[in-house]
Amino acid sequence: MWLAQLILCDDPRADGEACGECRACKFVERLEHPDVNWFFPLPRPDASTPEKLREKLEEARWAELLARRTDPFHVPAFDKAPAYFMGMVQNLQRLAGVRPAMGTRKVFVVGDAEAMVPQESSPEAANAFLKLLEEPPADTTLILTSSNPGALLPTIRSRVLPVRVLRLSQAEVAEFLAREKGMKPAEAEGLAQVSEGAIGRALRLLPTSGGSGVLQKQRETARRLLIAATSQSPADRLAAANAIAPSGARGEFSAGLQALSLWLRDLMAVAAGAPEHTAYTDDAALLTSIVKKARVRPEGVASAILRVQEAHDMAQGNVNPQLILADLLRGLREDLVAVSS
Ligand SMILES: [Zn+2]
Repeated sequence: MWLAQLILCDDPRADGEACGECRACKFVERLEHPDVNWFFPLPRPDASTPEKLREKLEEARWAELLARRTDPFHVPAFDKAPAYFMGMVQNLQRLAGVRPAMGTRKVFVVGDAEAMVPQESSPEAANAFLKLLEEPPADTTLILTSSNPGALLPTIRSRVLPVRVLRLSQAEVAEFLAREKGMKPAEAEGLAQVSEGAIGRALRLLPTSGGSGVLQKQRETARRLLIAATSQSPADRLAAANAIAPSGARGEFSAGLQALSLWLRDLMAVAAGAPEHTAYTDDAALLTSIVKKARVRPEGVASAILRVQEAHDMAQGNVNPQLILADLLRGLREDLVAVSS
């Protein structure tokens, strides 16, 4: 939205920044500018025909935009994993073909652009998007955002100019959480620690957000994975691995691994004897029992965290998720469980 303001501002400041005061700037800020179109991954709605699907996706996008207008810190709680579907790219293409309504240019913001990958549900979406990216209408600017630019399709990366938006400091995130979400300083700092300098991530990790949504499910899946990895019984491990075998999209598997990283960070706090520093204080008791039973050491957790990161990187490539998972479980056991003599 900051870049959209820069592009559409009627009266840019001498230093090149948007004025923040003009009509265009205000409209962008309120997410009401008719020439700024914000797209983001959405869950697939049920629809009988491609045309119906396209309509329903656009309705869902508007509903989500409305929620973001009402609450700029709104965190969507989808009950299915969101993705980019062909219908959405068609909607985007269609809007790109329309003349600007207010200014002289149109801006499209494509959020979480790393989700623009060919997947089973929409093999054509990524290709159609590439075509648009290659030859956008002359009055159109496409802005792609990603917190994981390494995961962007190479064909997308080669067609864009990178603009890096730096992470915020931990103190800034903590201050934000205390101010906007009324968190106690200690809790805010704990959450800021795992937010990696991104307020969006911190908001998604708020214990209250997405109660029944995807995040909660991912957290639950990751919990089972952690218990399986530290279990003494090989049969338990196998059963857990089978139960959570990654079935769906790559994005879902990556998200599960991210949830696992959060568990490991809390496990680290407990293993280091500082359970009060866990981001999810409710789960400290469970982690304490894991640390006791498996005799987990902080060094082991450190290498487990790295291992999950490696698995995450591998999942971005073409490696079979089930192979990655089997390998990861073995590795986590080595890292976390002390060998009894
Ligand atoms: Zn302005």
